[in-house]
Amino acid sequence: MDRADVHLLGTEEAALGQYGPTGRPLPAFPEPAPLSEHGPARVIAMCNQKGGVGKTTTTINLGAALAEYGRTVLLVDFDPQGALSVGLGINANELDVTVYNLLIERGHDINEMIRPTRVSGLDLVPANIDLSAAEVQLVGEVAREQVLARILRPVLDRYDVVLIDCQPSLGLLTVNALTAAHGVIIPLETEYFAMRGVALLVETIEKVTDRLNPRLQVDGILATMYDGRTLHAREVVESVVGHFGDRVFHTVISRTVKFPDATLAAEPITTYASAHQGAAAYRQLARELIARGGAP
Ligand code: ADP
Ligand code: MG
Repeated sequence: MDRADVHLLGTEEAALGQYGPTGRPLPAFPEPAPLSEHGPARVIAMCNQKGGVGKTTTTINLGAALAEYGRTVLLVDFDPQGALSVGLGINANELDVTVYNLLIERGHDINEMIRPTRVSGLDLVPANIDLSAAEVQLVGEVAREQVLARILRPVLDRYDVVLIDCQPSLGLLTVNALTAAHGVIIPLETEYFAMRGVALLVETIEKVTDRLNPRLQVDGILATMYDGRTLHAREVVESVVGHFGDRVFHTVISRTVKFPDATLAAEPITTYASAHQGAAAYRQLARELIARGGAP
């Protein structure tokens, strides 16, 4: 098979030792070794101020794939739209207390807010529209950028990975997520203008690194909604790799209706359609992240 043909394949179909959809030789991502004990957690923020790029889908499915590999995972819904909560079958609009109350009111314990999901090892801190008020209310707080980091501290020992699903903005909530995080994953929709706005995101990450959180790293850029049949998608991936080099994950997430279907079913694709290549792609992303040191 020559390189041009490989673009027709999703990452999972591309055999090892050949070129993956990002145009680079595809390394092996070994089955991760089981962990003998859990924690301390590595905290990862899923960020892109553009909406509809796959942040929530990646949070759910990367989280579920890591849980399949025996990692204990906490997902934090940090978007007032609450799509992460809905996508895991939790009707957060009926909840009296959510991550909003943790942020704004004293006397709450994060342990009260944590909900198990139907996936073993995968827990959730839900959010709903209440969170939209937090941005304004936090402005007058002391250490307003560090509120989420403080809230998460009591449970970091129990989890291997915490994934924070950010809202599509670079406001104070996102800065809180970046301040609480060790790493950032940036999903990019494989479309023209995918990189529009990424410079601003990188600038925000650099400011947070300088001023608030020196340990923060970019764990990787993830190409999502890839359609390998189109020249266009291949060109976009090529330009993203040209720009960000090895920071781009080898794993590429193809566009498939199975993702919105799984969301409607309020399940990760890894359980909704376990044998589907979309599930395989998120399992590969979990293995790639672990192989890179982005997760234990
Ligand atoms: P964000 O959180 O960045 O706004 P979402 O993860 O909610 O983005 O994705 C936006 C929409 O696109 C959702 O309806 C989701 O089901 C759908 N979607 C996400 N990833 C894919 C994919 N790989 N293929 C097809 N549809 C997808
Ligand atoms: Mg979202």
